[in-house]
Amino acid sequence: MPSVVIMGAGPAGLTLGCHLARAGVDHVILERGHHPRPRVGETLLPSALEVFDEIGFLGVVRDAGFRRADGIVYHTLDDPPVVVGYDEFPGDPPRFDHSFHADRARLDMLLLKHAESLGCRIVQGATARHATTDDGGRVTGVVATVGTETLDLEADLVVDATGHRTLLGGQFDLRVRDPELDQVAFHSWFSNVDTGPADTAGHVHIFFLPVHRGWAWCAPLTDGYTSVGLVTDRESFQQWRLGPEEFFGACVAEHPGLQSALAQGHMARTLQAETSVNYGLERVCGDGWLAVGDAARFVDPVFSSGVGVAVASARSAARHAVPALRGDGATARALGPYQDELFGQAAVWRRFVRLYYRLMPAFTVFVQSPRHRPGILGLLQGDVRGAVDSGLLDEMDALVREVENQDAHPLRPSLREPRP
Ligand SMILES: Cc1cc2nc3c(=O)[nH]c(=O)nc-3n(C[C@H](O)[C@H](O)[C@H](O)COP(=O)(O)OP(=O)(O)OC[C@H]3O[C@@H](n4cnc5c(N)ncnc54)[C@H](O)[C@@H]3O)c2cc1C
Repeated sequence: MPSVVIMGAGPAGLTLGCHLARAGVDHVILERGHHPRPRVGETLLPSALEVFDEIGFLGVVRDAGFRRADGIVYHTLDDPPVVVGYDEFPGDPPRFDHSFHADRARLDMLLLKHAESLGCRIVQGATARHATTDDGGRVTGVVATVGTETLDLEADLVVDATGHRTLLGGQFDLRVRDPELDQVAFHSWFSNVDTGPADTAGHVHIFFLPVHRGWAWCAPLTDGYTSVGLVTDRESFQQWRLGPEEFFGACVAEHPGLQSALAQGHMARTLQAETSVNYGLERVCGDGWLAVGDAARFVDPVFSSGVGVAVASARSAARHAVPALRGDGATARALGPYQDELFGQAAVWRRFVRLYYRLMPAFTVFVQSPRHRPGILGLLQGDVRGAVDSGLLDEMDALVREVENQDAHPLRPSLREPRP
């Protein structure tokens, strides 16, 4: 019997597998699909590279020919674009001064091959159906299907890495949608997108849209394709009473810069929708189980942090689970510090994202202020503690309150009311 069954072979499940293989913990990874399989989330922050380096995968990423990314360009509606270079991230010099935009089908397949080379056992085409439990509610294994066959696997620890499907969150009724950040997303790949001057053409481009909590991204990939998508408040999308493609076109027309970037562009893939963008589990571990990556929670893609956060959660899960498995077992108590870590980080991200949406220009004001820029860049680098300790979020909060209290404040027209 394997000690650990991991359900899902995305970045989180595979990274955890790599850590377990290195620690000599017997495990199996079940993947319902067959790699390569498409997935949104092409812009990697340097923080993802840090974890890839730890599992020996960074060299593979570097050699794969992915498009180099040197930073981020924020396109507001009224002011000149604001550029952030990864070489400005904290550190002397920062550990990674660039990153990549990666076709996730290829990236995830390469990671799967890398995990296999470290000794991970991976079964593709194996769909986890549910976890089994004993009379005390402890998770004891997984029932999965491969074609017409049913597998009944026992394990000391079951890991949910099924991404936004949140298999255990659904089974144990733990999944909660964030009512204040109820967002939807639409995305595709385009050919012939104009990402502007050569020195920032490879950056990820973020466009602020005049739609409630709306923004769009253009992330240039290789072979002439660019990942383009937009995220907005669900209610606004519904109020426009348009189909996804018409809505997408209407939003593009709202931003002259985005419209001009896409003027000669052609949609090369069917437009995809993500209908539940912000959610989390009430608990991310229990007796005999834990959840990693998007299966644990997802806080808005606005800062391209998803893959970095997912692989960092897998690293943290391994840190707590391996000693527990070698000791008294993977109990809720032993895994509790993992949950504390994850919840602590998610709370900071959520606060930052809420402030961002409440007053989007505040972000560009702060990122251009010499006093606050290091804190914001640190946060984008994954340093949530620094953002709290430096008082950055408190000051953003104070600015939002000031704008709330002054009808004539120049930023007042940009203030968005929270929903509901
Ligand atoms: C609109 C949008 C834009 C985004 N943009 C970015 C970005 O620019 N940069 C970034 O870093 N992140 C981005 N993300 C986030 C990123 O896509 C995710 O955070 C990341 O893929 C999480 O990895 P994961 O391994 O947790 O889940 P996934 O990558 O979703 O992997 C889960 C795996 O589990 C498998 N699975 C599901 N159910 C089962 C089952 N029952 N049995 C077995 N296997 C199963 C799936 O097939 C899949 O392979 C974006 C997300 C959204 C919604």
